Amino acid sequence: PKYQSTALIIGVTGIVGNSLAEILPLSDTPGGPWKVYGVARRPRPQWNADHPIEYIQCDISDPDETLTKLGDLHDVTHLFYVTWANRSTESENCEINGKMFKSVLDAVIPNSPNLQHVSLQTGRKHYLGPFELYGEVAHDPPFHEDLPRLDAPNFYYTLEDILFESVKQKEGLTWSVHRPGTIFGFSPYSMMNLIGALCVYATICKHEGVPFKFPGTKSAWDQYSDCSDADLIAEQHIWAAVDPYAKNEAFNISNGDVFKWKHFWKVLGEQFEVEDGGFDEGGERVSLVEMMKDKGGVWDEIVREKGLVVTKLEEVAVWWFVDVILGGECMLDTMNKSKEHGFLGFRNTKSSLISWIDKMKGYKIVP
Ligand code: NDP
Repeated sequence: PKYQSTALIIGVTGIVGNSLAEILPLSDTPGGPWKVYGVARRPRPQWNADHPIEYIQCDISDPDETLTKLGDLHDVTHLFYVTWANRSTESENCEINGKMFKSVLDAVIPNSPNLQHVSLQTGRKHYLGPFELYGEVAHDPPFHEDLPRLDAPNFYYTLEDILFESVKQKEGLTWSVHRPGTIFGFSPYSMMNLIGALCVYATICKHEGVPFKFPGTKSAWDQYSDCSDADLIAEQHIWAAVDPYAKNEAFNISNGDVFKWKHFWKVLGEQFEVEDGGFDEGGERVSLVEMMKDKGGVWDEIVREKGLVVTKLEEVAVWWFVDVILGGECMLDTMNKSKEHGFLGFRNTKSSLISWIDKMKGYKIVP
């Protein structure tokens, strides 16, 4: 056969989905040659169109539509689930995210007889608790995979439980769970793209001739942070999909180094030639949500002036997420389990930061 494996990526234009869509079809990717299907709701954007995959427009929160469109595929061997829905409370998150995941599994498991593996992405909130309880229920870091579940609602637990139940339907079907921290990646459609939003913030500061000020707290500025590179996460998904030592386990995934925002802020500012405003020790913290609430028109003007790909400010810059991430200290995880099982991948976070900024500039998302 032409292909050894067939991937179905749910969330193919997302921050990790786009990386999977780029890496899976490469000739040297483990488990390949891969045939790849990718799902998202919106029409396929131009920045995703280079990847040699079959794009399927489907809203997975609609079980009928999902069954029609994904039940029609009969050759999927590996499912990569890299999407979510964000509602105002965690109990609503449990409900909608559970429904979405289940509608995909119910469409794929009975109709793709060669399905071998389901790779589910959750995240570090497994140990931190949901956004609504941020900082109130977290385990003591560094976080390792054996820690018990927190006594708080969490849609990640809902997804895991659906996964564990669903794989029982088919003999030999395996699973893996991947838990990144804050992701550094490319997607302009992501519901949480920290670097994307910071690039847009820097661009707006430059345009308005004001210094690029750190919008976070002193502890976020001074203390160690880490992150998870989107390509590295994709590599761990693919490793778990093909390596027998990775089956039926959950793994943390982070770059393997640490950084401080007070060092990276300068790097970011330099990329946009904006005056470095640093951290204002005496000043009161102003949230980006507040600062940026009327900047939609300014962004449209920048997009026109610089000939950028047309985007809406609220698509490319999700300010609440930046406010949360830069609002307190970063709690670290450990990569020991992943390494002990054989995944030795890592990233140099400074190089990772610069490469994602270059990619956003290359695709004319930011100037
Ligand atoms: P993104 O927000 O980057 O991407 C979501 C993708 O799913 C997009 O392609 C989107 O396209 C698609 N999508 C959304 N809703 C639907 C739907 N109803 N039907 C079909 N497609 C849909 O996702 P992430 O990679 O950020 O999120 C995956 C997991 O990773 C989540 O559990 C998240 O909490 C976790 N995580 C994320 C982090 C981050 O920094 N981003 C950090 C740590 C964990 P479209 O809108 O066009 O449908």
